[in-house]
Amino acid sequence: MQQMTPVLVVTPHPDDAEGGAGGTIARWAQQGRQVVLVVCTNGDKGTSDRSVTPADLAALRAEEQRQAAATLGIAEVVSLGFSDQGLEDCSAFREKLVRQIRRIRPETVVTIDPYRRYIRHRDHAVCGRVTLDAIFPYARDHLSYPEHLQEGLEPHKVREIYLWGSEEPDAFFDVTDTFSLKLDALYCHASQMQRPRAQRETETRLRYAENGKKAGVALAEAFKRIELNR
Ligand SMILES: [Zn+2]
Repeated sequence: MQQMTPVLVVTPHPDDAEGGAGGTIARWAQQGRQVVLVVCTNGDKGTSDRSVTPADLAALRAEEQRQAAATLGIAEVVSLGFSDQGLEDCSAFREKLVRQIRRIRPETVVTIDPYRRYIRHRDHAVCGRVTLDAIFPYARDHLSYPEHLQEGLEPHKVREIYLWGSEEPDAFFDVTDTFSLKLDALYCHASQMQRPRAQRETETRLRYAENGKKAGVALAEAFKRIELNR
């Protein structure tokens, strides 16, 4: 039953979700789960090429994201349109995430772990934290963003959260059969892939094989799991 329930994936930038959870997303999609990807920023600062304008980069990255999502079997991509390096822990951002949670009504939300020590992208930390806040308590409580009720968006309780990029992973999903698809999707983001695919594939395979030992499978993606009381 749970296998067929919707999944909401919230990514700070185009390409983060593929790198963190691409194999798991592809597996869920193959199992028939509806996966919706919310892309918080347009990635318009992700280049060292001084001849590219932010607007052109954003357009390119939106197209790369569309191709990557199609590769993984993602049903829908929602772009929130914030500027790269522009995420703040504020009501305006939180409201957009609460709105998507109440619209999609996912059992499962996947996003990036906000708690890496010292060096982490600020957008990653803000995205992870605000997504957790949006799930609990905001999306649950009808008096939070009550204007949603007028639009027919009812409060919603998420059942479980998986955080990729965690320093304390405790959930490991088999991606043996979807590992190639994950790499295919990641390399749809050609503007961001500095390393040759073969090199990245080898490094990732080694890491995922280590994860796999914990789950008794060949290759696994690793997450921090949070279960919410209903
Ligand atoms: Zn990122």
